[in-house]
Amino acid sequence: MTSTIPTQFEAALVDEFGPTLNIRDIDVPKPGVNQALVKVIASGVCHTDLHAAEGDWPVKPEPPFVPGHEGIGEVIELGPGNHHNVEVGDIVGNAWLWSACGECEYCITGRETQCNFAEYGGYTVNGSFGSYMLVDTRYAARIPESVTNYVEAAPILCAGVTVYKALKVSETRPGQFMVISGIGGLGHIAVQYAVAMGLRVIAVDVSQDKLDLATRHGAEFTVNAREGDPAEVVQEYTGGGAHGVLVTAVHEKAFRQAIDMARRAGTIVFNGLPPGEFPASVFEIVFKGLTIRGSLVGTRQDMAEALDFYARGLIKPTVSECALDEINDVLDRMRKGKIDGRVAIRY
Ligand SMILES: [Zn+2]
Ligand SMILES: [Zn+2]
Repeated sequence: MTSTIPTQFEAALVDEFGPTLNIRDIDVPKPGVNQALVKVIASGVCHTDLHAAEGDWPVKPEPPFVPGHEGIGEVIELGPGNHHNVEVGDIVGNAWLWSACGECEYCITGRETQCNFAEYGGYTVNGSFGSYMLVDTRYAARIPESVTNYVEAAPILCAGVTVYKALKVSETRPGQFMVISGIGGLGHIAVQYAVAMGLRVIAVDVSQDKLDLATRHGAEFTVNAREGDPAEVVQEYTGGGAHGVLVTAVHEKAFRQAIDMARRAGTIVFNGLPPGEFPASVFEIVFKGLTIRGSLVGTRQDMAEALDFYARGLIKPTVSECALDEINDVLDRMRKGKIDGRVAIRY
């Protein structure tokens, strides 16, 4: 096996923060303790990759680095250590939660996504915008054997697990109303998980194309936020507001609107991460007994569950394929909100 591994491979790198990634050859890394070298087959492109490239979040990665945290590929070499049933030939994925310490207060209480010592795929460690990547076999996603369409499955690794976890922590029950605000890469998958969970889905976006996509994925009602006040429309349709509101949108306005769309005692979950703030009325939060929650990706167990929904055919991400050398064009379209669903690189 070792003889087939080249010394270099092509990757898209952030050499300095800005809109453009550089495509160039870099050395194939050697897997360290608990790590595996993976030959990447497909990688989704996430909105977070834009933030990584532009370095506009408060916690910044250190260039040069390779973005990408929705990569799926085949294990071709194992480093030293115990690999917990991961073997050469297995299909695994990297993820935003690339690894965690496993021992801190958060890790031992089922909240490993909050670990202070976590490493992030395509951010603090090189990711999947290249044909080889490393994973930590303790944290890598295990792709179910029945999954064969890796381009389509790639978005589950970030978009899928993120919205699945957010829906779980919304504590919404079957038959209740769930607003999905923002029908992009995350939102169009959120609609499908919510439908699969038996929730009544209302999709909110500013683009009719995206609302049509939500309808195709099972949303029972759609609201175009460009046409009047979406909160008013949601309040009326639901007879008092939605039990859960999930914000995947990246415009600050959507966060304020989410509070106005919620039912009394409802839960609002934030997934979208625009750098910024939004105004919220203390009176309204207290008086309506609202819960506002941030939710960041998911744990390994959430990942296994999210992948299982996909493997059972309940989730079908809308994905278009691109080549690695088209990445700058894809990021540009993403910046302009011109992508339906997700784009994934096929190697
Ligand atoms: Zn992501
Ligand atoms: Zn930890």
